Amino acid sequence: MRRKLVVGNWKMHGSRAANAGLLAAIVGARPYGAEVAVCVPCVFLGDTAAQLAGSEVQWGAQDVSAHAQGAYTGEVSAAMLAEYACRFALVGHSERRQYHAESDELVAAKAQAALAQGITPIVCVGETLGQRDAGLTEAVVARQLAAVAQALGARLADIVLAYEPVWAIGTGRTATPAQAQSVHAALRMQLQTAGDAAARVRVLYGGSVKADNAAELLAMPDIDGALVGGASLKAAEFIAICRAAG
Ligand code: PEP
Repeated sequence: MRRKLVVGNWKMHGSRAANAGLLAAIVGARPYGAEVAVCVPCVFLGDTAAQLAGSEVQWGAQDVSAHAQGAYTGEVSAAMLAEYACRFALVGHSERRQYHAESDELVAAKAQAALAQGITPIVCVGETLGQRDAGLTEAVVARQLAAVAQALGARLADIVLAYEPVWAIGTGRTATPAQAQSVHAALRMQLQTAGDAAARVRVLYGGSVKADNAAELLAMPDIDGALVGGASLKAAEFIAICRAAG
C-alpha cells in the first residue's frame, strides 16, 4: 500500500520571516494521514531544517547537481543537501527543463546523484500543450521516464515520480482526474519493467492543484499524491490539500 505524499514546491518564493509563519501553520495543523513535505529554495534549508526537525513534516530541495563536487559555480551537490537532512530533491521540473535546457539524461544523472546520498529524487515528467495536442503525451513522458529507468536500473523503485503537464503548471488549468489517471496508469505500466517499482513508486500529480480540486484528483487509483506549486505558499490551501490526501 503506497502512502499518499503531498509536496509543496515553493519555487523562488518566500522570505525568512514569511517561511517561519507558513511552516508553523503547516506543522500546527498536524497530524496528517498523508506524508507531507516542502521543497524550498536552498538558502532556506538551514532555517527549514531547524524548524521542522522532529516534526512529521519533511523537507527537500528543488534541484540538485549531477556532479559530486568541483568547479560548477552556482550548483549544490547532493552531499550538501544531505548535510541539511533533505529527504527529497525535485529533479527535472519543467521550469528547469525549459529555462535551463536540462536534458532527459541530465535529469537521470541528477536522480542518480540524489539517491547516492540517500535523498529521494522526485522525478518530474510532463508534456507541453503542443505535444498533448499532437497526441504525443504518452510518448513524451515515456521517453522522459525511460532515461531515468536506464540510469537507475533496480533503484528506479526508490524514486518518487511526478506527472506535471506543462500546460497545467501555474496556469490555473488542471488536468481532469480522468486525463491525469490515464497518464499515471501508463507510467505505472512502464514502471513494471523494473522489479517492484510499479507497486512501490508513488506517482504524484502536479499542475494547479488546489484545495477545491485535490480530493477528486487524489481519488484516482494511480494518483498517489500531489506536487503543489502556487497553492503551497498559502497555509490554509496547502493544509486543505494535505488533509484531502488522507
Ligand atoms: C509546480 O511548480 O510543480 C506546480 C505544480 O505548480 P502549480 O501548482 O502552481 O501549478
